[in-house]
Amino acid sequence: MAPSTWLVVGASRGIGLEFVRQLLEQGNQVIAAVRNPETANQIWQLSAQPTRPGACLIEQCDVTDEASIDAFVDRMKALVSKGMKIDNLILNAGILKYPNRATEISFSDFALHLHTNTIGPIIVAQKLLSISSADPPSKVVFISSDSGSTADFRDHEDGFGAYASSKAALNQMLRHMAAELKRKGGKWQDVCVLAMHPGEVQTDMANNISVDWEVEGVINADESVEKMLKVIGEKDKSHSGTFWRWDGREHPW
Ligand code: NDP
Repeated sequence: MAPSTWLVVGASRGIGLEFVRQLLEQGNQVIAAVRNPETANQIWQLSAQPTRPGACLIEQCDVTDEASIDAFVDRMKALVSKGMKIDNLILNAGILKYPNRATEISFSDFALHLHTNTIGPIIVAQKLLSISSADPPSKVVFISSDSGSTADFRDHEDGFGAYASSKAALNQMLRHMAAELKRKGGKWQDVCVLAMHPGEVQTDMANNISVDWEVEGVINADESVEKMLKVIGEKDKSHSGTFWRWDGREHPW
């Protein structure tokens, strides 16, 4: 893909940080949105490395906090008004408090999963699209999960009720977003909205889970992101509203 401007939401650690690293390596301009810039040491280290061909701007955005989202979108609007185009948007922020069983989860923990994994990413995307109406992003990519696939329900996944539900709701909402943009016509019908399953990836999230079954095919963030960027690069508006695995295979909803 030719160098362009990418906005990655949830970029402090894990898969989000790796997206930023590889995108900078490829010479892109990256806006890295993180919940706590004060403690997001890895992204500051990455942006400070003079050998990276791309440029990195670090911004604050907590996807569970509407005031934080609005302030972030206002700052992006100011950049857009000065001629910046957000070419590609990656909504990566996510949380998994393990376990989150349907029979046990508290009201507040269930709400936290929905706020972080569903409502936050959708509202951030919606508001960023609204400030980009003159020239909308080509790709809006939501990092979902195979857990959110209702077609792929695995009853051995004891412990993932709220997380799976939050990703299933994300999947359904992003499909609506894709359909609504197509129906709006004009430049909106050129936006490609995708859901991606990144694989079973070795990150803090995965390390905080202990399950009593064998997790197969665990990959590192480097491989996951490299393959996801290839998949994202191959897609266009005709793929809007589809769900893909990191390895290029289409995922059932
Ligand atoms: P990590 O726990 O390593 O990283 C999660 C990222 O999300 C961090 O950057 C974190 O920021 C950010 N985040 C969490 N809450 C918020 C918030 N309220 N506002 C802004 N940012 C927030 O997880 P992964 O890198 O593994 O996961 C990335 C995505 O991939 C998630 O959406 C996850 O559900 C999905 N996924 C991961 C899989 C895996 O095997 N790892 C499998 C399937 C899907 P902070 O540092 O501030 O906490």
